[in-house]
Amino acid sequence: MAIATSLTEKTDEQKAITEMVRQFVDNEVLPIAEEHDHEDKFPEHVVEQMKELGLFGVTIPEEFGGMGLDLTTYAMIVEELSRGWISVSGIVNTHFIGSYLLMKFGTDEQKQSFLPRMATGELRAAFSLSEPEVGSDVQGIKSTAKKLDDGYWQLNGQKMWVTNGLMSGVVFVLMKSDPHADPPHKGMTCFITEKEPGVSENTGDFKGLDVPPKIKKMGYKGVESTELIYDGYISSPDRILGGEEHGVGKGFAQMMDALEVGRVNVAARGVGIAQRALELALRYSQERKTFGKPIAQHQAIQFKLADMATKIEAARLLTFKAARMKDAGERSDLEAGMAKLFASETGKEVVEEAFRIHGGYGYSKEYEIERLYRDAPLLLIGEGTSEIQRMVIGKKLLERNKI
Ligand SMILES: Cc1cc2nc3c(=O)[nH]c(=O)nc-3n(C[C@H](O)[C@H](O)[C@H](O)COP(=O)(O)OP(=O)(O)OC[C@H]3O[C@@H](n4cnc5c(N)ncnc54)[C@H](O)[C@@H]3O)c2cc1C
Repeated sequence: MAIATSLTEKTDEQKAITEMVRQFVDNEVLPIAEEHDHEDKFPEHVVEQMKELGLFGVTIPEEFGGMGLDLTTYAMIVEELSRGWISVSGIVNTHFIGSYLLMKFGTDEQKQSFLPRMATGELRAAFSLSEPEVGSDVQGIKSTAKKLDDGYWQLNGQKMWVTNGLMSGVVFVLMKSDPHADPPHKGMTCFITEKEPGVSENTGDFKGLDVPPKIKKMGYKGVESTELIYDGYISSPDRILGGEEHGVGKGFAQMMDALEVGRVNVAARGVGIAQRALELALRYSQERKTFGKPIAQHQAIQFKLADMATKIEAARLLTFKAARMKDAGERSDLEAGMAKLFASETGKEVVEEAFRIHGGYGYSKEYEIERLYRDAPLLLIGEGTSEIQRMVIGKKLLERNKI
C-alpha cells in the first residue's frame, strides 16, 4: 500500500474508499437516520448494503476475504460513517475490535473458523468487558469461567452495556478464570462465545447465554445495547482466545490492547459527528436571518464556526497521528488516549455550538442537530471515559519521561 506523506493526505486508495463511503452515507444513511433514531429501529437495510460494500472486512487480511486495510484507512471510513449516524459506525466498531482480537491473538484454527465469515459480515461480533458494577475498573469484574472435569469451561455472570449484544453471532467476553490471582488481571481470560443472532434465549450448543431486552438510551439508537447473562454456558477450551495453553490468564492484556485501537476508532467517531454538526451550522447560519442579515454575518457566530472548524481539524490530526503510529508498529498508547480524549470532547462541544446556532429549532425533532445532541455524549463514555483517558495519558507521560 502507498504511504501518504503528511498526516491528513490520503493515498489514492484512501481517497477512493472514503469517497465511496461518503456517497453511501449521503445516499443511504442520512436519509433514514432520523426515522430509525426516533423509532429506535435497527437499520437492517443499511447493514445489508454495508456487507455488500465489504465494510465489515476493512481491516481483515485478504487471505480471509477482507480488504486488508490499515487502521488509518479504517479511521477515515469511521469518520465518514459517523458523519451520517454514529449508530451505524457502532455496528462496525465492536466487530472491528473482535476482528482485531482474532487477528492479533487468535490461533490459526480460530482465525480460519471466524475471520472469513466476519469479513463478509455474515457473522458479526460484539465484545464485552463491562458489568453492572464495573466499567472503568475492569480488574473488578466478577463473571467467572471455571474449568470442569471434562476439560470444558463453564461461564457464569452478568455483563452490561454490550453493543450489538442481540444481533451479533459471536461475543468476545472477559471472564475471571482464577479468582485468587494477584493482581486480579493475571487471572482473566477472553472467551470467544458463539450465539444465535437476534435470539434472546439461546438453546442447543449455545444454551446458557441469554440476552435481556435492550437498554433504553437517550441516543445512540438503532444499534442495541444489552446485558448478557451467562448461566452455565459451556465453552470448549478451543474457544479461549489464543488457545488454552497461551490464552488462559491473558484476557485482560488482550482486551487492553484492543481498546487502544478502539480508542482511535472512537476518536474518528468524534471527528465525524463534529464534522456533520459543523456542516449543519454552516448551512443554517447562512439561511437564518436576524437583525436584517444572515446570522453567519454576526461576528459572534463566525467566531463559533471558526472555533468549531479549528477543533475538528486538531482532533482529526490527533486521530490520524495515533492511527499512523500504530500502523507503523510504533507505541501509540499515549497518542490513542490523547486522540480519544480530545476528539470525543470536541464532538460534544462542536455539536453543542451547532445546537446553539440553531436557536429554538435545534430543540425540535424536525432538525438533525437534535439527534446529534443526544448521540455525542456517548463518545465521552465508551472505550474509557475522559477521566480514564487522562489517567492513561498522565501515566504514559511519566513513564516516557522518567527522571
Ligand atoms: C451506549 C453504551 C455502549 C457501551 N458498549 C460497551 C460494549 O460494547 N462493551 C463493553 O464492555 N462496555 C460497553 N460500554 C460500557 C462503557 O465502557 C462503560 O460505561 C465505561 O467504561 C464507564 O464505566 P461505568 O459506566 O461503569 O462508569 P464508572 O466506572 O462507574 O465511572 C463513573 C464515573 O467515575 C469516573 N471515574 C471512575 N474511576 C475514576 C478514577 N479512578 N478517577 C477519576 N474518575 C473516575 C468515570 O470517569 C465516570 O465519570 C458501553 C456504554 C454505553 C453507555
